[in-house]
Amino acid sequence: MIEVSHLTKRYGEKYAVRDISFDVKDGEILGFLGPNGAGKSTTMNILTGYLSSNEGTVKIDGVDVLEQPLKAKKNIGYLPEQPPLYPDMTVDEYLTFVFGLKQCKLGREAHLAEICGLVRIQNVRGRLIRNLSKGYKQRVGIAQALIGNPDVLILDEPTVGLDPKQIIEIRTLIKHLSRKHTVILSSHILPEVQSVCERIVIINEGRIVADDTTANLSSQISTDHRLIARIAGPENEVRDALSELTGVRKCVSLGEHEADSLDWQIECDAGQDIRRALFSVLSAKEWPLLALDTGELTLEDIFLRLTTDSTVLPAKRTAADNTAEETAPEQQGEDDNA
Ligand code: ADP
Ligand code: MG
Repeated sequence: MIEVSHLTKRYGEKYAVRDISFDVKDGEILGFLGPNGAGKSTTMNILTGYLSSNEGTVKIDGVDVLEQPLKAKKNIGYLPEQPPLYPDMTVDEYLTFVFGLKQCKLGREAHLAEICGLVRIQNVRGRLIRNLSKGYKQRVGIAQALIGNPDVLILDEPTVGLDPKQIIEIRTLIKHLSRKHTVILSSHILPEVQSVCERIVIINEGRIVADDTTANLSSQISTDHRLIARIAGPENEVRDALSELTGVRKCVSLGEHEADSLDWQIECDAGQDIRRALFSVLSAKEWPLLALDTGELTLEDIFLRLTTDSTVLPAKRTAADNTAEETAPEQQGEDDNA
């Protein structure tokens, strides 16, 4: 359905994307994952025909986006990072306006009613867009992408800036939409694409560093067992007790994050679940366990693994190909996109 081949985009001397190739099959839901500045929006703007590339081609259902932009665009619904909403229009006025812009041939009333029902904005159709919450604005953005019933939906960071409840609603909506559309969804948050997408392309500094099924990538990521435990107990004794647990490869103190306690990063052998043994030893010593986290790899950890010691990356490269570097776990899902 979507064939991206050797895309390159430069701004002056700087490469925003560099020799990117991937395919998306009919009906697939693909996660396009990368940190801010990785080149996600640039790629999506090229895919949708809003930006030209320096090199490479994009075909949507066999139609070249550069050669036949109008024909290709008819098949694409696009939600850009900044949805093109007109705050002074009502939802209905806006959707009618977009319907006209897209020269949509479907019956207008019925089509707009169907879309509003699907994205659940029926109750705000008469309201001014500027008075809507961020979550509703995002739904209106998705609604405009759905006008004309395109086969392909391209959604650029659709959950950025939403609160947790809105995020879940939008994710559910996207999953629902993927039944009838081929979807590409970008995000800088790993769990987001893990929860929604079947396949993940990871991009960093304009290059693809991994392209695999979510299941494969997730299993590679989770074979590395790592726990973060916040323990109130004397440092040296805790270290000794943790090190003696069967299956513990290494434990490192991450310092004090809460008064009178230390955070410990505990690395375990693959397949070893030490949580029960950990509970028993801490409880026997009467050292309270204040928090326990699975400490999954953050996006930063993953990039490090995928990109260390290499300048030329093959298109398909897996986390298992690389040896791990020591990194402190960082807060994931941070949103500095505002
Ligand atoms: P992402 O969407 O993954 O955050 P972008 O595609 O927006 O990344 O940006 C990729 C890189 O290209 C960044 O380094 C960004 O600063 C640069 N860039 C994007 N747009 C422009 C532009 N119009 N002019 C110059 N540099 C740009
Ligand atoms: Mg972006």
